[in-house]
Amino acid sequence: MRPACLALILAALSTSLTAAQEPTSRPERLTIFKRLSLAQLARFDRDRAAFAQKVKPADVPYPFVRGTFHMHSELSHDSNGKISEIIAAAKATRTRVVGMTDHPSKTVDVVKEGAKGWKDGVYFLAGVEGGGALDWPAVQGEADLRFVSHPEEVPTFDRSRFAGMEIYNTHSDAKDEPMKKLLAAVLLNLPAVKTHTDAAFESFLDYPAGFMARYDKLTIDAPFSGIAANDCHQNISFTLVAMPDETVEIFDYSEDRISKVDGMPAKILRSVFGPKGQVTKPTPMTSLSLDPYERGMRHVGTFLQISEVSERTVRHALRTGRVILGFEIVAPLPSVGFWIERDGKPAATVGDQLPWQPGLSLRCALPAEARIRIVRNGKPVHETLADACALPLSSGGVYRMEACVTLAGEQWPWVISNPIYVEQAAAATRPK
Ligand SMILES: [Zn+2]
Ligand SMILES: [Zn+2]
Repeated sequence: MRPACLALILAALSTSLTAAQEPTSRPERLTIFKRLSLAQLARFDRDRAAFAQKVKPADVPYPFVRGTFHMHSELSHDSNGKISEIIAAAKATRTRVVGMTDHPSKTVDVVKEGAKGWKDGVYFLAGVEGGGALDWPAVQGEADLRFVSHPEEVPTFDRSRFAGMEIYNTHSDAKDEPMKKLLAAVLLNLPAVKTHTDAAFESFLDYPAGFMARYDKLTIDAPFSGIAANDCHQNISFTLVAMPDETVEIFDYSEDRISKVDGMPAKILRSVFGPKGQVTKPTPMTSLSLDPYERGMRHVGTFLQISEVSERTVRHALRTGRVILGFEIVAPLPSVGFWIERDGKPAATVGDQLPWQPGLSLRCALPAEARIRIVRNGKPVHETLADACALPLSSGGVYRMEACVTLAGEQWPWVISNPIYVEQAAAATRPK
C-alpha cells in the first residue's frame, strides 16, 4: 500500500471512529497503531528470528512439559473449533497437555462430552468455564480443581475454593486495547498484518502487571498457583465483502456481520483489495484469521514440571504451582529452570515450600540471554542480563523469576515463574 493512501485511510477512519484514549492500566509501550505498522511488524519478525537463533535448551534439573489451559471448542457457543484441529496445533507447538474449558450450555454437558484422556498423543482434561472460574471437576479419585478466570472481572473471591488464578489471559490482554482502534489499525495495515500475522497477534501483548500485583499479594499470605489462560476459540477472523451499494461489510468467523464501512474508507479498501468497479452481488475481497489454534497455543504455554503425564501428575502440578509460563511467540522455550540449591544439589523448585537455612541459593537457567528479574514478596530484588543466575539467599520470602526479551525496541515478557516459598527461620517473623 502506498504511504499516501495509508494516510488517507487513517484520516478517514479516525474521523469515522470514536476517538479512544490509550488505556492507562498497562505498562508504557507503543500505541496499537504504531505496533501494527508495517515497519514495526517487520522489525519484530526480524528481531524475533534473530533471537530464536540464539535459543539453545538450558540444562535444568526439573522436567518441563508444555500445556495449554483454558481452551474452547465447538462445544462452546462462540467457537467452531474441532478437537482434531486442537490436536494438530498441540503437535505443532509440542504441547502435550490441553485443559479444555468450554462454556456451559443448556443442551450439552461440556465436561461429559469434552475431550479427556489421551487422544493421539495429547492428554486432555475436560472442564468448564463459568462464573469467573475454570473448573476441572473431580475425576479418577482426584479432587475438583478450580482457578479464578478473567481476574479483571472477579474483584474478590474466597481463595479456599481455588487452587490458583490465571496470571495471564490472552483475551483479558487484548481487551485492554481500544477495540475500535485495534480494528481500524488491523484494517489499515491489512497487507502488512497478513504478511506478519504472528507479530500482529502480539501487538496487544503486555506484561500482565495488574494480575501479577494481585497474585504477589495473595502468594505472600499463602501458596497459590498461577497459570496462563490461552482462552483459544479460533474465532478471531474476518472477511471483507464488497457490496453492490459501494460499501464494504466485515463478517466474522461465523459469517455474522460485525461492521460496515462506507464513504472514503470503503472506497480505499476496495481500491486496495479489489474489485475495482461496481459489483452486482456481495463479493469477498480478502480475509484473515488472527487466532488459529496453533498461533493461540504458541502465544503462551503453561509448562508443568512433571516427568510423566497423567491425570494425577497434571492436576498435582497445577494445584501446587509446579508451573512456569512461557510466551513462545516471543521466543521458543525448550526448557527453563528456577530452583533452589543446597550444597550444589537441587533442593526445591517452583511451587515448593522449604524452611530457610544457611547455604541456600536461588538458581535460574534460560535458553538464551534475557533480562532476568528475581522478585521477592512482590518486589524486584535482583536484575541482570544473562542466561543464568545464582543468588545466595540471606532470608526467607516468596521468590519468583521473570525474564523479558527486547524485540523491535520494546521489552516483551518471555518467562514468568510460579514462586518458591522459603519459610523464614522460626524465630523471625515472616516478612510482609
Ligand atoms: Zn468464549
Ligand atoms: Zn474462555
